[in-house]
Amino acid sequence: AQELLQNSEKLSLVGQLAAGIAHELRNPLTAVKGFIQLLKSGAADKQQYYDIISSEINRIEQILGEMLILAKPRAVQYLPVDIHRLLEHVTTLVESQAIMNSIEIVKECEQSLPFIDGDENQLKQVFINVMKNAVEAMPHGGIITVRANKLEEDRIVVRVIDQGSGIPADQLERIGHPFFTTKEHGTGLGMMVSFQIIERHGGHVSISSEVGKGTTVEIVLPVFANNSL
Ligand code: ADP
Ligand code: MG
Repeated sequence: AQELLQNSEKLSLVGQLAAGIAHELRNPLTAVKGFIQLLKSGAADKQQYYDIISSEINRIEQILGEMLILAKPRAVQYLPVDIHRLLEHVTTLVESQAIMNSIEIVKECEQSLPFIDGDENQLKQVFINVMKNAVEAMPHGGIITVRANKLEEDRIVVRVIDQGSGIPADQLERIGHPFFTTKEHGTGLGMMVSFQIIERHGGHVSISSEVGKGTTVEIVLPVFANNSL
């Protein structure tokens, strides 16, 4: 996927995406086809083949799911979102994966935060992506701190701070490019989708990182205009 990106740097974003999606979907589809062929020819280890087919289909679903989020900007509903509730929910979703990796998630959120103007499901998706990346960067455990503060009257900031592997400078600038991943089973779509969602919300994402120490992802979002409601 990395080569593909370099070769297609001059294509439009749409062209890049289409090329990337085709490329990423072809691999699991080829695998599924191959293993069905093997099953047809009366292969011995059926269970193992079923498992591989099923995991490849999951991967296709995952890629399509992330694409659909991008494809549906008009289905977005902007409403006042309670960031406390949202972070609580996301933490619960990521918690089992964290516990399995000896990771503790610590929330340090300012008491009375104003509502955010946004689409709850899309924002959830963003924080799930960011928290999952943090968990995946900490195979040896540690602490993930989630900190939410009022920045000014009309903006809040949420920081997800991990103690993971960190990101080398040359990779930092590629995060959010379609299909940029350093993981064996990564899609390289999570941050791209997250950047787009936050941008659409009038917000901003910035990442700072130190190799061997950890990474901080900072998300600034505008608050709901009529917070007295
Ligand atoms: P994926 O997680 O599928 O690889 P993402 O778009 O979510 O795709 O992330 C792209 C890449 O950015 C990751 O493969 C990883 O190299 C890097 N990255 C993102 N977040 C972190 C983090 N918290 N710590 C270390 N690396 C990260
Ligand atoms: Mg990810």
